[in-house]
Amino acid sequence: MRINPTVSRPLPRLGDEYTRTYFGEWAAGRLVVQHCPECGHWQHYPRALCEKCGATPVFEEQEPAGVVWTYTIIRQMGTEPFRSEAPYPVAMIALAGGIKIMGTITDCEPEQVRIGMRVRGYPVVYGEIGLPFWRPDTSDQPVAGEDGSHG
Ligand SMILES: [Zn+2]
Repeated sequence: MRINPTVSRPLPRLGDEYTRTYFGEWAAGRLVVQHCPECGHWQHYPRALCEKCGATPVFEEQEPAGVVWTYTIIRQMGTEPFRSEAPYPVAMIALAGGIKIMGTITDCEPEQVRIGMRVRGYPVVYGEIGLPFWRPDTSDQPVAGEDGSHG
């Protein structure tokens, strides 16, 4: 499946600055994740406070690369554009350091998706919102921090 960027799709509501930052940075091709300067905790989705200590987290850019941690294949969906796009794989992507982000994997057959498969994120841009999608990473570059560090 490939995403057709001219097809309208439901978009997130940009109700707070954290959500605006996250999807706005994706629109520019950058994946940002929150990091706590007090306790070192990384978190996703974006929110006002560190979920561990209550301090104010800061966004830090991450390489939009990870591995499929788990996935399912959506075969039935009642609403467009998802109905026309099914079947499609939806995965939890584990970034370097362990942050997990849910996303749709494109540019391959659903049956080709495997746990541990390397993927790269890319945005499909709707105005100020970049919706993250993921595709197989066919480069020979190892994913930074696959050993669990926060490369
Ligand atoms: Zn913290």
